Amino acid sequence: MPLTLHDTMAGEKRPFTPADPNRVTMYVCGPTVYSYAHIGNARPVVVFDLLYRALRHEYGEEAVVYARNITDIDDKIIKAAAESGKSIEEITQRFSRIYREDMAGLGALPPTIEPTATGHIGEMIALMEKLIAQDVAYVAEGHVLFAIDKYTEYGTLSRVNHDEMIAGARVEVAPYKKNAADFVLWKPAKDDEPGWDSPWGCGRPGWHLECSAMIEKNFGPTIDIHGGGQDLRFPHHENEIAQSVCAHGGAPLARYWLHNGFLRMGADKMSKSLGNVVLAHDLLKAWPGEAIRWALLSAQYRQPLEWKEELLVQSKRQLDRFYRTLNELSDVEAAPVAPPESVLSALSDDLNTPDAFAALHQFREEVGNAPDDKRAEMKGALLAAGRLMGFFTANPSDWFKMGTGGGPAVEEIERLIADRTAARKSKDFARSDAIRDDLASRGVVIEDGPDGVSWRRR
Ligand code: AMP
Ligand code: ZN
Repeated sequence: MPLTLHDTMAGEKRPFTPADPNRVTMYVCGPTVYSYAHIGNARPVVVFDLLYRALRHEYGEEAVVYARNITDIDDKIIKAAAESGKSIEEITQRFSRIYREDMAGLGALPPTIEPTATGHIGEMIALMEKLIAQDVAYVAEGHVLFAIDKYTEYGTLSRVNHDEMIAGARVEVAPYKKNAADFVLWKPAKDDEPGWDSPWGCGRPGWHLECSAMIEKNFGPTIDIHGGGQDLRFPHHENEIAQSVCAHGGAPLARYWLHNGFLRMGADKMSKSLGNVVLAHDLLKAWPGEAIRWALLSAQYRQPLEWKEELLVQSKRQLDRFYRTLNELSDVEAAPVAPPESVLSALSDDLNTPDAFAALHQFREEVGNAPDDKRAEMKGALLAAGRLMGFFTANPSDWFKMGTGGGPAVEEIERLIADRTAARKSKDFARSDAIRDDLASRGVVIEDGPDGVSWRRR
């Protein structure tokens, strides 16, 4: 399925061809690890995970190298450490682990590599030395700054003009800057702050520099695909481009630039600064990860997506239909076949997930009505589509026990069922009926069968 992807730099969809089909490279800007990720932060993770899966499908698992970095030094991390009385390492280790677990909970495969900012300080220093030698960066009062006037292509990705740039970047106006829009590559560490020795004194890197250094170290000057949320287009990606292109004699940083749209709460972007966030970590306690993933992929990735509880209810219901079909086919051995062509063709069109979901539903109906001799093949194709998109990984009978945003936890249900069985044994039917009614009122149906008691959520 040859892919067509919307390239922000070109401003249109382009057929995707990697520079080397044996080594397809993708870099997505990852989290700054000082607190929990909200579900808006999870959108790029799930979207680029889908792209990673599609690339692996097309070019082979071994051929695709996907890097998602971890920013483990930053002002916000220093602040979180100071406020909690913990060390920076404790904070970054803890939130990196939680991030990995939560994103895995949403069905995101681990990236091939997960470079850290603190693991690339030497590369960052070398990059700055190159930029200073070329006179596109300068040193002032312990800072290293990029002189944006020296890079005439600045702003091409985001198509912003100079005044918008200064306003949008909200760059600090500081006396040591030659131009208010110059951005910081390196800043001096205050006495109580962490820092690394450099030719310009003890300091720490600016955020934009990290990505340029990590890409150079792991991939060389140019990657196939660079991704992130649309808020990163400017200034972050613009600054990455300025640094990398100048350091690499004009070689482009990425051949395709992909940006996901915002997840919104009402009219606003979900963001920590607005305080309107829902944490992925909390949602995962109440909902199956696949239902949250389905919700995140329910809009095409460049479109805005409005987040509400109803979206999760609907997403869970849609998945229920697939799991019901799979349950009905539980005695059929799935044949090892490719996903349905209709699903592949929707995904190949710039990851058109709403169309892919519609194609999946249609295929599910066909599977349900398939003649006996076609069922193995069709079940195989349905599961293959699920594997490609990160769905149908649960055992169908377990699926119907998973949470739906409320209702009792599995442990409580099983404890109550054991109590009910004991009550029935001692002929306390009033108690056993009361337990059954209580669970029913909370959406859990108990069924007594020849093999004992089973239960499912309504
Ligand atoms: P941040 O922690 O703000 O650097 O964001 C991490 C990633 O999440 C970046 O790729 C952002 O573009 C993306 N992101 C942040 N908020 C949202 C949102 N509300 N919707 C979609 N993507 C977002
Ligand atoms: Zn980046």
